Order: sequence, then C-alpha cells, then structure tokens
Amino acid sequence: MTFPWPDGYRAAASFTFDVDAESCVLAHDPSAASRMSLMSHQAYGPRVGVPRLLRVLRRQGVRATFFVPGFTADTYPDMVRAIVDDGHEVAHHGYLHEQTRGMDARTEARAIDRGLAALERLGIRPTGYRAPWWEMNWHTPRLLIERGFRYDSSLLDDDVPYRLREEQGKPGATLVEIPVHWGLDDWEQYAFYPGWTGSGVIESPRKACGMWREEAAAYHAEGGCYVLTSHPFLSGRPARSAALEGLIEAVRGMAGMWVTTLAEIAEHTERVVNEVRTVRRIDAPELSEDGERRLVG
Ligand SMILES: [Zn+2]
Repeated sequence: MTFPWPDGYRAAASFTFDVDAESCVLAHDPSAASRMSLMSHQAYGPRVGVPRLLRVLRRQGVRATFFVPGFTADTYPDMVRAIVDDGHEVAHHGYLHEQTRGMDARTEARAIDRGLAALERLGIRPTGYRAPWWEMNWHTPRLLIERGFRYDSSLLDDDVPYRLREEQGKPGATLVEIPVHWGLDDWEQYAFYPGWTGSGVIESPRKACGMWREEAAAYHAEGGCYVLTSHPFLSGRPARSAALEGLIEAVRGMAGMWVTTLAEIAEHTERVVNEVRTVRRIDAPELSEDGERRLVG
C-alpha cells in the first residue's frame, strides 16, 4: 500500500464527529420523543459536547469534519454556525439519520435532498456525505454523484481513499471514498442507554483511546488514512474528551502525519489518483439441485 500523500507527508488522519443528537433516536422510534431523559442524553451532544470538543480542537489547532443530519441543523442552527465559525468542515449525514437499509432510491434521494436543503438554509453546501449508520445502498453512489457530492465516508473496504464509479455510471462521474471501520468508532466503546442501545458495558476512555492510538500508529507506519468517528453526545463527556485530546496530540506528533479534514483528503485524492474502481454488487451463487451453493459459469 503506497498512497501518494502530499510532499512531506507519509500518512493522513482525520477526526470526524457525527452530530446525530436526537435524530438517530427519532428515526429508530418516533415515540422516543416522549422519553424526556433519553432525549436529554442525545441533547447533551449539541448543548455541551460540541462546545467542549470545539475547545479541544481549538487548543490542538486541528480542523475536523462534522457530519450534521439536517434535523440537527434545523434544531440547533447556532451550534452549526459555531462549528463553521471555528473553520471546520460541515458535511451531510441524512435528514433524520434515516434507516437506509433496504430503502429504495427515490425515498433515499428525498432524504438526501431534505438534508441538503436544511444545510443550505445555513449557507452550507456540503461536498461530503456519510450514510446514517454507515449504511450505503448500491444505488447511493449514483444519488451522490448526481447531486455533485465529491466524497463519501461510509464504506469499509480499504485503508486509504480511492475513487469509485457507480456500476451504471457515465465515464468521468466518480466519487472519492474515504473508508471507515467499527474499531475506530466511539459508539461501540461508550454508547449505552436502557431500551435504546448498547450492551451495558461502558469502556474507560483510557482503554478506548489506547486502542485508537494503536490503530493510528499502524496507519502511520503503513501510510494509511486514519479516520476516527466520534459522537459529541458520547465523546463530549469530560474524561472522554480529555482522553481524545491526548490522542489528537499524539497523532499530531507523529512525523509526517497530515491531520486535516475529509474534504481536503478527498480533494487531494481527486488530484493524484487516476485509477477508478467500479464497485459491483456480489450476490450469492444459485442453488444447485442438491442444495449446495456452487459458482455458476
Ligand atoms: Zn450518525
């Protein structure tokens, strides 16, 4: 794996924040709106987590990417303005953090357009997209390309960015993919709410950030693209954001590590990567008469 990072850099790292707030809960179950305590757990993100994380990023001199669902933008416009005022990137994350699994293209297009309209009301035209729950459908790249998105960050099939063409896509129409994975997401470490999410095990920030630091060191050694996904309602808590600041400081200190936004990584990828992958759906082979699955042809 040798990715052509800009001169002087050997690897890249991006700190990304998904500001789901209430949207992911309401998309999962609209009746959750009646649960005052659960809703307050989600509201902690925009109310307390984001301001604290913005202070961390300011102290570290790091620009980050914030994925903001349209519903969050409509509910907390001043918080989104504070993110923009600090020089961070705001990108698209659905409207109500929709469950896109199995969703048809027309319904998904409506959700994307609604999210775009909400961000546009705040003067933001995002270049990046992250599917709610990282749940892309095979038609999603086409919807993104049609709407002028430059990159997506929801797939899990590489350690470095690449350019993809949707299967039926016209030549020339491509999207940069900046891959993610569940080991670099704070949900699995910290999220717990009875009757909503999590197993009840809440990891210590030292353990979580130690694991993420180990990954960062390996991405750095291999010249990869390290993308950490955090949620302000989880990682914005005091000890967690303190540990995250230690991690950011350590990653910044890695020689030749380019710490930047996903938009900048995508722009660089468009410039230096000529190879374009066609991403194809792989289906199960047909069943033979004896019930064994065999490859056909
Ligand atoms: Zn999310």
